[in-house]
Formats: sequence, structure tokens, C-alpha cells
Amino acid sequence: MNPANYLKIKNKIPSNVNILAVSKGFKSQEIKTIQNVGQNDFGESKFQEAFEKQIILKDLKDIKWHFIGRIQSNKIRKIVKNFKYIHSVDSFEKLQRISDISCEEKKNPLIMLQVKFSEDPSKGGFNPELLITKWSEIQELKNIKLTGLMTINPKGLSSKENFELFQKCRALADSLQLSDCSMGMSGDWEEAIDAGSTWLRLGSLIFGDRF
Ligand SMILES: *Cc1c(COP(=O)(O)O)cnc(C)c1O
Repeated sequence: MNPANYLKIKNKIPSNVNILAVSKGFKSQEIKTIQNVGQNDFGESKFQEAFEKQIILKDLKDIKWHFIGRIQSNKIRKIVKNFKYIHSVDSFEKLQRISDISCEEKKNPLIMLQVKFSEDPSKGGFNPELLITKWSEIQELKNIKLTGLMTINPKGLSSKENFELFQKCRALADSLQLSDCSMGMSGDWEEAIDAGSTWLRLGSLIFGDRF
């Protein structure tokens, strides 16, 4: 893990686009190395793996943890207690549960709702029409701060197809007056920037290959 590589990527990205360094599969020492050159947002997709790193890195007070993985209902309390952002809320029921638990725990997590813009059985997410139907109910929920939408494109798309799906996400977020779009990974981040991403979730591009 070479921080020069991270800095090179950071310099290519417009300053209004945030980088979420996806550290799943990488060690806390590697997180420390790039935190040391100014990266403070880190994304993890498995609670237990993340929690172990959070304990080791607890003295690095500037780190903000983002949960980006599939949310198991029995882990919601732990996720709410230990993450500032949750990008991967993929159903109304889970959102409701997050809201209830946030009230009990006196937390106020920043939330991005995962939306699915193409058929991909391997991925969860709100159907866009359902999200619109539920929108007024969603806005009533307490102790959550909805900042945007998140999407993961299926693998193997052309650059144009990636761009068009990201554009749909941006358009829906705009229509709901949400500022954030968490979209773009190591293979499609350029298209995501062009379509209006505000959070690129970059793992291997920053840290190298995962083992
Ligand atoms: C692993 C992961 C990423 C990062 O993937 P890379 O291809 O390594 O950049 C981004 N988003 C989610 C939800 C992930 O699980």
C-alpha cells in the first residue's frame, strides 16, 4: 500500500466529489497509512471485520466510518452505534428499524438509500417506483438524516451503459431533493463522476488487489 498511489488518484478527482476508501479486506495498518495523508472516510461491508479495525484505530478521531454492506437485521443496532454513515439501506422495513433503533440509542445516522436501476438478482435495493410511492412515509421517520441515494451497477456493462444507469440515480436523487449519490467503484468511477456522483466508493484502485 503506497500513499503516493492514493494521492495520484485524489488529484484526478474533482474537489466536490468525495472519496470513500473501501477498506474491506485490508488491514488497519493500511487504513492508517492513507489516513496519514488526509483520507478520513472509510467504508466497510462486514460488521465484525469493521468493528475489529475500529477498536484498533479508535485513537484516530478524525476517521468517519461508512457501512456499505448488506444489512442483516440482527446487526442493525451494532451498525447504528458504530457507523456515522449507512449507504446500503435497501428496504423500507430496514429503514424503519434503523430509525427506531436510532431513537433508542440517541443516534442520528446519515443515510443513503440503495436503489436498483437494472435487473441484478445478486444485488438488493429499492425499486425506484416503490421508493417514490413510499417517499412521504420515509420522510416521517425520526432520527435519520437522509442525504442521498446509493447504487451499484452490474458487472460487465459498457462505459455508456454505466453512465446511463448513474444518470438515472442522479435524476431520482435530484427529484427527491437529495444531494448525495454514492456511485462509482474502481471500474466505473469516471462515468460516475460525469453523471454527478458525490461519493466514489474506491477499494482496489486505492489499496491494490484484495486477497
Ligand atoms: C467492495 C465494494 C466497493 C469497492 O470495490 P472496488 O471495486 O474494490 O473499488 C464499493 N462498493 C461496495 C458496496 C463494495 O462492496
